[in-house]
Amino acid sequence: MLFNRPPLPLFQGEGKRIPYTGRFAPSPTGPLHFGSLITAVASYCDARSQHGIWHVRIEDTDIPRISPGSEEHILRSIDAFQFEPDSEIIFQKNRINIYNHVIEQLKQNHLVYACQCTRKILGSNHIYTGTCQSLNLNFTNQAIRVKVDDLDICFEDRLQGRHCSNLSHDLGDFVLKRRDGVINYQLAVVVDDYLQGITHVVRGADLLDNTARQIWLTRLLAYPQLQYLHLPLAMNGQGQKLSKQNLAHALDLSKAPELLQQALIALHQPSVELDTPARMLKQAIAQWNIQRIPKATELNGIYL
Ligand code: GLU
Repeated sequence: MLFNRPPLPLFQGEGKRIPYTGRFAPSPTGPLHFGSLITAVASYCDARSQHGIWHVRIEDTDIPRISPGSEEHILRSIDAFQFEPDSEIIFQKNRINIYNHVIEQLKQNHLVYACQCTRKILGSNHIYTGTCQSLNLNFTNQAIRVKVDDLDICFEDRLQGRHCSNLSHDLGDFVLKRRDGVINYQLAVVVDDYLQGITHVVRGADLLDNTARQIWLTRLLAYPQLQYLHLPLAMNGQGQKLSKQNLAHALDLSKAPELLQQALIALHQPSVELDTPARMLKQAIAQWNIQRIPKATELNGIYL
């Protein structure tokens, strides 16, 4: 019923796609770390090596999780590594009305419903069984869930190969907007990838499991399908992925060339001599080869 509907009219002129449009979309829940640098470098080199364009977007809808100073560290990192985004950096916190507009569209198409289940009610059950679907609750001050179908959603990751997941079995109807009004990452990412005309997503393998949800939303909204490449993750000495939650070290911006060189080594790219970051990136783009990136979800031997 859903898949042949023409694209929902959004904002004219936006959503235009050119053959390759990529992006780097960090969440400012902590300063950028070496794992984020790997993602930035890979998304940039992949886009530029295909004569594509590249945007930066700050994913800051979850205001309670924003850590003070991290937005500034992201912006300073973009400068220090001499990345050249093709547009002004956008901040999702300034776009909440757009996401709410899309939720309205989904409401009109009866694809979402209000949910009053609290975490306490749901307990440890991670699969939502649709308790509120038939209750027709008023949307005010309630979480909003999107309905999912019982079908396999499959995609061909450019590095990790074919991935399939059945949202109805694995997750159930999922939240797009929390009761406190916070727009969920899954919705904001899909809407902005569409509005920025993104064609290719290059990001960490920790987001592989989110992709089926994003493809589902992309289909419901009749947005074009994206290409995905999920990179292996850098780990810390305890075998945990580098993350802001694990208090990974912030990138030391005074060592940008050295860190850039390490990131390219981690991605198994041909070596690049220490130089200015701009010249190093230029060389890395000329030599960029995704066949060399390890086809794993974790990078062995890179402990930072
Ligand atoms: N904002 C997400 C993060 O920092 C990444 C989103 C994406 O690349 O799709 O983990």
